[in-house]
Amino acid sequence: MLTGIEVAFIGGDARQLEVIQKLSELDATITLIGFDNLQQDYNGITKVEMKEDVLAGKDIVILPAVGTDDQGKVESIFSKNEMILQELHIAQLPAHAKVYTGMAKPYLTNLCNQYGIEVIELFERDDVSIYNSIPTAEGAIMMAIQNTDFTIHGSQSMVLGFGRTGITMARTLQGLGAHVLVGVRRPEHYARASEMGFMPFYIKDLYERVANIDLLFNTIPTMIVTAQVITNIPHRVVIIDLASRPGGTDFRFAEKRGIKAILAPGLPGIVAPKSAGRIIANTLSQLIEEDFIKRDGVE
Ligand code: NAP
Repeated sequence: MLTGIEVAFIGGDARQLEVIQKLSELDATITLIGFDNLQQDYNGITKVEMKEDVLAGKDIVILPAVGTDDQGKVESIFSKNEMILQELHIAQLPAHAKVYTGMAKPYLTNLCNQYGIEVIELFERDDVSIYNSIPTAEGAIMMAIQNTDFTIHGSQSMVLGFGRTGITMARTLQGLGAHVLVGVRRPEHYARASEMGFMPFYIKDLYERVANIDLLFNTIPTMIVTAQVITNIPHRVVIIDLASRPGGTDFRFAEKRGIKAILAPGLPGIVAPKSAGRIIANTLSQLIEEDFIKRDGVE
């Protein structure tokens, strides 16, 4: 239980509702900032505006998937008011306070570092990333279906990268009956991909290997589907780039060649906000218990 723990939520999207629900069930004392248009009312939860002293005495601050932008702006789909997280807010936090977010831009880390406040990035964790890869792969399949006139079953589908997202993507395609090619750079990934029934190849051979594909899913967060590679991609191919912005595809050149290439960020929050919210809620509640309750021996 989180009885007596003071938690402030600043902004977010539908995923945050699952987190609020979970922490409320665990009896945390919750303040919502930037939720003025939220219809739902929770028992014992206070809604306030982003005033100067809004974080005074809070143990925990929970920010959205992308904590702030480069200027400190916190996004909220539940408010029209602009919210900027500033030094005057963080300065009010007690020294033991922690800030939890999906991923933090340098603005947020620098701001918190100044006051010795720890920032925890949930999307850096393997468990969260692996769970998140499930709605990501489902969203990518949805986009592939919406943008093609052929079935995934029987298609030559290529997945670039064999990390947390790439493995789930490849397995999901395999489950639908696609022939799955997996681009890797390490021999151990090559071996594992082969063991799992995929057709592995080394990324250095990407140019040759794209010649006969129907779908391409990229998870490598660096420029990988270059203009040169695109010159060898058939026109029927749809490229779905899952890597974080700006993706790993030369979108300008793909458009010039008439190849459909789609950058598809933030799929878990779009296609399955409830499940994605639960992933965050479960991890966050465990972390808070470990960090605040077990540490103090107040179990
Ligand atoms: P990950 O586990 O680190 O996997 C990344 C993969 O890319 C690894 O196989 C890595 O190979 C490979 N790679 C990296 N740089 C490479 C290079 N220069 N050449 C060849 N291979 C390279 O990361 P992840 O969790 O799967 O996430 C992948 C990307 O998807 C990230 O940008 C993440 O932000 C994004 N993402 C997007 C969504 C969405 O909704 N679109 C959802 C979740 C994640 P090694 O193992 O050899 O390093």
